[in-house]
Amino acid sequence: MTRRLILATTNAHKVREIAGMFAPAGDAIEVMSAVEFGTPPQVEETSDSFSGNAVLKAVGFAAWLRGLAGASPDDLCVADDSGICIDALEGAPGVRSARFAGDDATDDENNVAMVEALRGRGLDRSAAHYACVLAVARVDGAPLVLGSPGAAARRAHGELDGAILFEGRCEGEVRIACQGEGGFGYDPHFWIDGGARTFADLSEEEKSHRSHRGEALRAMMARWPEFGI
Ligand code: IMP
Repeated sequence: MTRRLILATTNAHKVREIAGMFAPAGDAIEVMSAVEFGTPPQVEETSDSFSGNAVLKAVGFAAWLRGLAGASPDDLCVADDSGICIDALEGAPGVRSARFAGDDATDDENNVAMVEALRGRGLDRSAAHYACVLAVARVDGAPLVLGSPGAAARRAHGELDGAILFEGRCEGEVRIACQGEGGFGYDPHFWIDGGARTFADLSEEEKSHRSHRGEALRAMMARWPEFGI
């Protein structure tokens, strides 16, 4: 049985990374972007946690899809909330990663803000990690219940407001120095492997093996057989 998975994002980079990771699942999963259904709502990210914002987006997009002819009640809406947490900045920008330089900031503007924040502390680098939370909600708004092994396993991954959560994290170092042409966002400044390369040096496949988003998606895929009901 094919299950439709609708990505609750307008970020084309996220769609590309997530759809690419599901490609090996073949007919079992059809990945769509919410933009294929029309102009999605602007969901305010009012939570101070990745989990809270991921749920707001998954539930908000599901409510919007519910009113549309093309969506089915048991389609799944998947939202990603992610960001970079920099030790020297007490975890900032965190949930504000997309808006570090202000609302509607571009990736370049956010990178400049990050570099200035480090320089402002007299630093040229800091330990940092990327974090990603995926929230999965049913389009009809009914609580998503995984099959066996039941409630204990559901709690292990977390659930909130009828959505199920999966998390991923990737450790590295941010530097004011940048390198590489791939990826998006803070990737050219995110150094891994002891400073040998940045996330922007990685191919899409390599990034999905290493990234916070890849880890969260693998956790979700491991439970995929239980989503079929
Ligand atoms: P969101 O759309 O509110 O989840 O914000 C995500 C923001 O976090 C992006 O705009 C980037 O600034 C940053 N981010 C998340 N994941 C990545 C990644 O894989 N590479 C680079 N930046 C990322």
